Amino acid sequence: MNFKQKIYFFSQTKTDGDKSMSEVLGGKGANIAEMCKLGLPVPPGFTLATSLCNDFLKNKKLSIALKKNVKKYITKTEKIVGSSFGGENPLLLSVRSGAPVSMPGMMETILNIGLTSETLPYLISRSGSERFAYDSYRRLIMMYSDVVMEKSLHLNKTKKPIRIKMEKLLSQMKKKYSHRSDATVSADHWKELISQYLDLVKKDFGVAFPDDPYDQLFGAIGAVFSSWNGKRAKEYRVFENIPTTMGTAVSVQAMVFGNLGKNCGTGVAFTRNPSNGEKEFYGEWLQNAQGEDVVAGIRTPHPILADSGSKLSLEEVMPKAYKQLDRVRKKLEKHFDEMQDIEFTIQDEKLWMLQTRTAKRTGIAAIKIATDMVHEKLIDKKTALSRIQPNQIYESLLKNIEPDSLVGVSAVGSGLPAGPGASSGEIVFTAEKAEFLGKKGKKIILVREETSPEDIHGMHYSEGILTSRGGLTSHAALVARGWGKSCVVGCQTLHINNNQRSGSIGDIKIKEGDWITLNGSTGEIFLGKMSLFQNPINASGPLTELLSWADQIRKLKIRTNADTPEDCEKALSFGAEGIGLCRTEHMFFEETRVHEFRKMILAENKKSRVKHLKKLLPYQTKDFYNILKVMNDKPVTVRLLDPPLHEFINIGNKELEHLALDLKKSKTSILSRIDFLKESNPMLGHRGCRLGISYPEITEMQAEALLGAALRLKKEGGAPIVEIMIPLVSHVNEFVNQKNIVLSVYDKLSQKRGLDLKFKIGTMIEVPRACLVAEEIAKHADFFSFGTNDLTQTTFGFSRDDTSTFFESYFQEKILPVDPFEQIDRGGVGKLMRIAVQDGRKTKKSISIGICGEHGGEPNSIRFCSELGLNYVSCSPFRIPIARLAAAQVEL
Ligand code: PEP
Ligand code: MG
Repeated sequence: MNFKQKIYFFSQTKTDGDKSMSEVLGGKGANIAEMCKLGLPVPPGFTLATSLCNDFLKNKKLSIALKKNVKKYITKTEKIVGSSFGGENPLLLSVRSGAPVSMPGMMETILNIGLTSETLPYLISRSGSERFAYDSYRRLIMMYSDVVMEKSLHLNKTKKPIRIKMEKLLSQMKKKYSHRSDATVSADHWKELISQYLDLVKKDFGVAFPDDPYDQLFGAIGAVFSSWNGKRAKEYRVFENIPTTMGTAVSVQAMVFGNLGKNCGTGVAFTRNPSNGEKEFYGEWLQNAQGEDVVAGIRTPHPILADSGSKLSLEEVMPKAYKQLDRVRKKLEKHFDEMQDIEFTIQDEKLWMLQTRTAKRTGIAAIKIATDMVHEKLIDKKTALSRIQPNQIYESLLKNIEPDSLVGVSAVGSGLPAGPGASSGEIVFTAEKAEFLGKKGKKIILVREETSPEDIHGMHYSEGILTSRGGLTSHAALVARGWGKSCVVGCQTLHINNNQRSGSIGDIKIKEGDWITLNGSTGEIFLGKMSLFQNPINASGPLTELLSWADQIRKLKIRTNADTPEDCEKALSFGAEGIGLCRTEHMFFEETRVHEFRKMILAENKKSRVKHLKKLLPYQTKDFYNILKVMNDKPVTVRLLDPPLHEFINIGNKELEHLALDLKKSKTSILSRIDFLKESNPMLGHRGCRLGISYPEITEMQAEALLGAALRLKKEGGAPIVEIMIPLVSHVNEFVNQKNIVLSVYDKLSQKRGLDLKFKIGTMIEVPRACLVAEEIAKHADFFSFGTNDLTQTTFGFSRDDTSTFFESYFQEKILPVDPFEQIDRGGVGKLMRIAVQDGRKTKKSISIGICGEHGGEPNSIRFCSELGLNYVSCSPFRIPIARLAAAQVEL
C-alpha cells in the first residue's frame, strides 16, 4: 500500500494537501493544509485520509504497515518542532476527527497524547510549570478514558459513564479545597485528582491507563475512526443525508498550549458577526485554558474586542497576540472569500491557528454578508446569490425564539411545521375567545383539534395556531402560511378536554391562560413565555438588493396566492408579478359573509340558491374590483368556487340558531339538510367544477361579479388582466361546460355595457386524469395551473387533511424521504406534471403553465418547475422572496 497517498503532512514549510481535498483530508484537514500554504502559524502534523477510516472499520484494527508509516510522520513532525514523542523534550499531540462535510460536535478529539509517567517529569522541567503539566495530564486521562477506553473499546464494566464519575471527582476536589474555578487549582490538587482518576480507570475498566505514548496514539487514532460509526454521528448522517461511505479523516498535530500560564489562552472567533452579519470581529477567548474549556461552558469566556466594554478582552489583555489574530482574520477572509469560523491558541503570546472553516450564520447575517462582500469586491453577484439558502430569507423575515430562552429547555411536544416562525402567547381553545382577547391586545395561541372557516376570526387575532389534527395543506396550515403566522398542526399528543378550557400535551396538563411558545419552523412546542425577535423586510436593505439581483437573472415569473386587496398589496411589496390563485371561497370567511354563504349552500332548490347568490354578488363584485385595482396591469387568476363543503357546514349551536332565525326554519330541518349534504369523503366529493356543473348559477354569479368588476375598471381607464380558472377538472367536458357558462355571461354583460374585454379561461390541473388528457383539454383552455396539493392527494390517494396519523411512521420507516405535500414528488406527481406539460404544449405550443399548490413556494419544487418549463410559480405572499431567490438559483 502506498501510504504517501494516504498520509498528508502539513507544516509552515512543507504541506502535501490543500483546501480542495476535503474528500480525502476532511474539511478540517484540508483547511489546515491551506492555512499552512498561506504561511499562517499552524502547529505541524499530518492527516490520515478518509479511506484509512474505511480500512479500519473493515479490519477493526490499524495495520502494522500503517503504524510504521505513522511513526515516520511523527519523526518528520519532531524534526520541525525540535522535540520528541515520548522523549526528554516531550512532544505532545492532538488527535482530531474531520469529515468531508461538517458534522459539528459529532465526532471526537483527544488532546495531550504522549503524556506518561515517564514524560510527565520532563514536561514539568521543560515548561517550568508543575501545575500546567498535571492539568494537561488530567485532561488526557479524562478524554482518553471516555473516548478510547469506554466508547471505542467498550471497557467500562459498570453502568455509569466514566466521564460523569470523573466530573464528580473533579467537583468534589474543588469543593474540598474551595476552588471556584479550574484556573485556581494547584499542582498538588491536580495530582491528587489524577491518582483518583487512575484508580477509577483500573477499577471500572479492569486495565491500567496506557502509559506508552504510541499505545496512546494508536488507541486515539482508532477511536476517532470508530467514532464515525458512533450513535450520534450515525443519527446525524441520516438526518443530514450524508453517505456512510465517506469516512472521517484524522489529523494528528503537535500540541500548543493555551494553559501554560497567564500569557497563554485559547479561543474561537468569527471573522464577521454571525448573528447580524456586521463586519466586526466576533469571538470569545479564555486566558490560561485549553480548547475545550471555551465550548464546554465551564468558565465564562471574554470577548475578543476591547470596545465590547470588557476589561478582559483579548485586545486589551494581549494586544500583540490580538494584532496577529486580526491580521490572520483579514487574510483568511480574503483568501477564502467567505466568512470564517476559527479556533486559535496563544502560547507565550504567540498565536497558533488550529482550525478555519466556513462559518454558520443566521439568515439575516447570511444576506448582509453576501451583499457586503459584493460591495467589497470579494465575490460577484452570482456567488452572493448562490450562498443564501432560500429558507434563510424566510427565516430572516420571521420571528425567531431568542437562543438564550432555549438554553436548558426541551419541547413538551411537536407537530408538523406548518407555518414557520415563532409565536408565544396565552392558550385559548375557542376562536371566539381568541378574537375577544386578541382584540384587547393579548397575545394568544389558538389551540384547536383542527380549524375550519369558523375559526378564521380567531386565527386572525392569534399569534400562532396549534392543532392536534391536519397536515401541511390543512386549512389551518394554508391560512397560517398565507398570513405569515406561526402554526404547528397534527400534534398527536395534544388532547383538548370537552370543556374547551383545558387539555394536555402528552402528560403535561395545559389550561386556558397558560403561556405557550410555538416554533412553527421546527414544529416544536414549549411551555411558557419565550422572548422572540424579528427583522422587518423594509429595514432590510440588503435583502431588497439581493432580490433585485435575483430578478435580473431568473426566468420563472413569480405570482402570489392572495384573496384580499390587503394580501395583494403585501404580495406586491414582496415582489409579486401577478396573482396565480385567488381562492374565491376564502372571500366568504368573514362572519356576515360566511352566514350568507351557508344559506346559499343549504338552499334546497335553484330558486332559493339564486336568491342567496344575489346577496353574495355585490360582495364578490366589490372584492374583485378592489383586487383588480390593486393589481393594476398585472395578471389576476381567479378560481371559481372550490369549497370542500364540509368546511363550511361543520357549525356550532350559535351559527345554527342564527341560520334558523334568518331562514325562518327549525334547527332540526337545518340539521337534516346539513346531514343530507354531508359526504363520506368530502375532499373527493361535491367540490371544484362539480359544484358549478350541478349548480350553474354559482358559476354565473362569480363570472358576473368578476367580469362586471373588470368591465367597470376598464371603463374607468384601467387595463385589468383577468384569468378565470376552473378547479378540479378531470374530463374535458367539465371544462367546456364551465367555459360556456362564463362565455355566455360575458356576452350578456359586454352587450349590456357596450364594452369588451380580453380575458383567459384556463384550468387547474389537480387530478391525475387531467394530466393524462392534457392534450385534449389544451384545445379549449388558455392556460394550465398545477394544483399540486390536490394532485399530490389524488396521485398518492392520501387524504391531505389526515396525513398526521400515519406520516410519522412513514418518515421513521423511510417509506417517504420527505413530505410530498411540501416538496413535489418528482417520481410520481412530477411524472404526471411532465406528461401534462408535454401533451398540453403538443396541442398549444405557447400555452401558459404555472403552479399554485403549496409547492410553488418551495425551493426544490421551484427547481423542478423550471426544469419542466413552466412559466410561473405562485405562492403565499410571505414566500415570494424565497421563490425569487430559488428561481434565480436555478439559473446559476
Ligand atoms: C391545489 O390543490 O394545489 C390548490 C392550489 O387548490 P386548493 O389547495 O385550494 O385545493
Ligand atoms: Mg385544489
